[in-house]
Amino acid sequence: MLLQNKIQKLADQYKSDTIDIRRHLHAHPELSFEENETVAFVTEKLRSFGISNLTSKANTGLVALIEGKNPAKKTVALRADMDALPINEANEVSYKSTNPGVMHACGHDVHTSSLLGTARILNEIKADFEGTIKLLFQPGEEKVPGGAAMMIADKALLDPKPSAILGQHVMPLIPVGKVGFRKGMYMASADELYIKVKGKGGHGAMPETLVDPVLISAHILVALQQVVSRKADPKTPSVLSFGKVMADGATNVIPNEVNIEGTFRTLNEDWRKEAHQHMIKIAKGIAEGMGGEVDFEVRKGYPFLKNEPELTERSIQAAKTYLGEENVVDLDIWMAAEDFSYYTQEMDGCFYRLGTRNESKGIVSGVHTPTFDIDEDALGLSTGLMAWLALEELKHT
Ligand SMILES: [Zn+2]
Ligand SMILES: [Zn+2]
Repeated sequence: MLLQNKIQKLADQYKSDTIDIRRHLHAHPELSFEENETVAFVTEKLRSFGISNLTSKANTGLVALIEGKNPAKKTVALRADMDALPINEANEVSYKSTNPGVMHACGHDVHTSSLLGTARILNEIKADFEGTIKLLFQPGEEKVPGGAAMMIADKALLDPKPSAILGQHVMPLIPVGKVGFRKGMYMASADELYIKVKGKGGHGAMPETLVDPVLISAHILVALQQVVSRKADPKTPSVLSFGKVMADGATNVIPNEVNIEGTFRTLNEDWRKEAHQHMIKIAKGIAEGMGGEVDFEVRKGYPFLKNEPELTERSIQAAKTYLGEENVVDLDIWMAAEDFSYYTQEMDGCFYRLGTRNESKGIVSGVHTPTFDIDEDALGLSTGLMAWLALEELKHT
């Protein structure tokens, strides 16, 4: 039997088990860096599939190895994230979260169950391929500093060192049965900005005796937009948004200070650092010119995510072979952030999207909402597809 057919057959055979695993994980979500029961469950499942080369990483993370023939030939890594979000689930389903206020609303239950299914398939056919598959089950994707950074710091990418890494994420905008890819820059870096504008408050009727931090803040907010409109390379997407401005005075009270919070996102690491410096300089210059002061803190989040073009092209071709040309779609740039980007800074990576939408079943909610769910038919193809992509990549020299 052709290897592709063998994989497809196993994916079909294991589909209902994979769905059961997903439902168990969905019903028992754990927050970032608290994935204790989740990782214990993943460990137990891997052992039950006969995969016993397991190493604990980053407290609640896990690395597993599946060795084919000639294991030293090449290593390909596959990644799943395991954490849930602080959201109260609103779906009335049999597998509803049993942990109030915590929900798998970003599909990490799907990524974890799918990677378990992929592992099961690959372990079954390990006599059919050469090289090693490294499985990364990581904690804390949803929370800075990001489980990926912790896995890397804990040497998850060494011994053996993979030459490429693949990851998938659910996508409720793409119909079930399809997957999406994008070559090159795909997702943004995301930094939090905290600006404290300090003046001298007092009676609103006597501004000439005060330093008004509200007016300074207004100038700063407007001026900072020129970083995006005048300083950024128009070919590199950048976005600067402020969603919180707190001037806690009154109609006749000018406050002592104003606190502003926002986000800066882009897709180039050099420009990202440069933009931080521009913003700080502009804010400080305006505040000083108007007699006030500013504390400008940049809390750095994840770097931007780049899909290595050649690896991604090979994955696209392999996906077309596995799913049919019509089921592989192009993705647009997505200005959200994802800690998979840390892996793509270390090695070639490809992060693709698994379609989970089904309008006929009313499955349309976005990720990070209390009504998010998936069409579980996606688990019939996601396991086999990732196994197929990994083996095609292992064959590439
Ligand atoms: Zn998320
Ligand atoms: Zn996610």
